[in-house]
Amino acid sequence: MAKYDVIVVGAGNAALAASVAARNAGAGRVLVLEKAPEEMRGGNTHYSGGLLRIAFDSAEQILRLVPKARELAGFVEGIEAYPRDAFWSDLRRMTSNRTDPELAGILIGNSFDTAAWMVEQGIRFEPAISLGAVRVGNAIKWPKGAIVRAVHEGVGLSRMWFAAAQRKGVEVRYSTPAIRLVTDSRGRVAGVVVRDSGGVHELSADAVVLGCGGFEANAAWRAQYLGRPWDHAKVRGTPHNQADGLRMALEIGAMPWGQWSGCHATPINAAAPAFGDRELTDKTNRLSYPYGLMINRLGLRFVDEGEDQAFFTYAKFGGIILNQPGGVAYQIFDAKVRHLLEPRYATSEPVTAARLDELVGMLEIDRETAMRTIDEYNATAGNGSFNPGDRDGLTTRGLALPKSNWAQKLETAPFTAWPVTGGITFSFGGLKVNDRAQVVGTDWNPIPGLYTCGEMVGGLFHHNYPGGSGLMSGAVFGRIAGANAAREGA
Ligand SMILES: Cc1cc2nc3c(=O)[nH]c(=O)nc-3n(C[C@H](O)[C@H](O)[C@H](O)COP(=O)(O)OP(=O)(O)OC[C@H]3O[C@@H](n4cnc5c(N)ncnc54)[C@H](O)[C@@H]3O)c2cc1C
Repeated sequence: MAKYDVIVVGAGNAALAASVAARNAGAGRVLVLEKAPEEMRGGNTHYSGGLLRIAFDSAEQILRLVPKARELAGFVEGIEAYPRDAFWSDLRRMTSNRTDPELAGILIGNSFDTAAWMVEQGIRFEPAISLGAVRVGNAIKWPKGAIVRAVHEGVGLSRMWFAAAQRKGVEVRYSTPAIRLVTDSRGRVAGVVVRDSGGVHELSADAVVLGCGGFEANAAWRAQYLGRPWDHAKVRGTPHNQADGLRMALEIGAMPWGQWSGCHATPINAAAPAFGDRELTDKTNRLSYPYGLMINRLGLRFVDEGEDQAFFTYAKFGGIILNQPGGVAYQIFDAKVRHLLEPRYATSEPVTAARLDELVGMLEIDRETAMRTIDEYNATAGNGSFNPGDRDGLTTRGLALPKSNWAQKLETAPFTAWPVTGGITFSFGGLKVNDRAQVVGTDWNPIPGLYTCGEMVGGLFHHNYPGGSGLMSGAVFGRIAGANAAREGA
């Protein structure tokens, strides 16, 4: 029987970080199992925007990750430090104070060092200019803490990770799902059972790292844990994250942890495909709603579009949209903000009209109510100055459901409407891990030989999520898992 030092299940950001860290820590034979065929490899990481949320104290630190950005006009001027305290307070606020404090401390405390470590492994970064950044005067205003992304976004990140793993001599097997964990008589995880074109085999290892995603692509698990209407949700990423790792770990007594009824879901083009498109990747996102209004089929607003910057609301608004009648809504903008829409809006055609009533007449919507909603909004909006780079406090006055920032009147023709639905990104429920990324059992003891990372780690995210935290968490816990797994056989 083949024997490895470390077997890593999955081939996304977290798993490949783990495989590289395992080799760096001295593991001799490291095997990555990828369920997908080679042309579908890389999990959600491939589809991602490649954005990383990083705690840092000065622009100079960020320049260590993106040295060439010094030449980008307005780059340094627009950077605001994002100290650990700020990341902490965002994560607490987003999760209604439910984030697991031990895990959050590990994520935040290691974020910058891990990004710098990724650079050492050959991952290249660039300013995330088309994601949420807006030019204000001479400066580019960045969403707080979300400044850096992988070159060529998720596609590039995935490709760079595979190249890094190859340079380190990691073996990768495609079309080879792990289907079961193997335990020895003492309860130690001693390998995995895999299925490939040759049949079903057992592979043994000193340690196994599970980095094979959540249950977002599995309609039955979505129905079971998230409830209706999540079985009908479109999946933004890979079709391969079908809960396999969670199931395998729970079967041997791993402890579920975190918010199993919660997930990350974002407003996406209503015409997006059922699963992610490998070319379009994250370009179906529609995240410029803070500058407009969102109206459902009943003609009603249903969220405070200006509650916060999009990176602090997008991950919960997707689910709220999915729960509207028909699972859809319309994002409506006027011409004055058109230049502020993220470039990815260009991947679909909006409904356009010279008058608001004409626009509303072209939508599948209760027209009378929609016009009343817009008129009431317009009567209470536009009381101050608009600043797209920051929460500007330009709020409606007297509306039961306010728009708290960026509340300009919808008045300048032409008007556009973008049909959106909620697309699921990843599930929040996962496994309990300790500070070594070891999976903890329902007896509260670590399961010997078993580690996990990425989406499979439970407890960090509840209800909502600050943009860029998923990849950062994957890299942080992947690196920790791989290094500790390598020591099991030493
Ligand atoms: C469209 C989109 C945009 C996103 N943008 C961002 C962003 O900009 N910033 C950010 O921080 N996060 C982003 N995210 C979230 C982020 O991409 C994911 O949370 C992250 O990539 C998860 O990494 P992972 O390694 O845990 O899982 P994945 O990257 O999903 O990898 C899981 C791997 O496991 C494999 N697998 C599954 N089952 C098995 C099995 N039984 N055996 C073997 N292999 C198996 C899969 O094929 C895959 O290779 C985005 C996600 C999507 C879908």
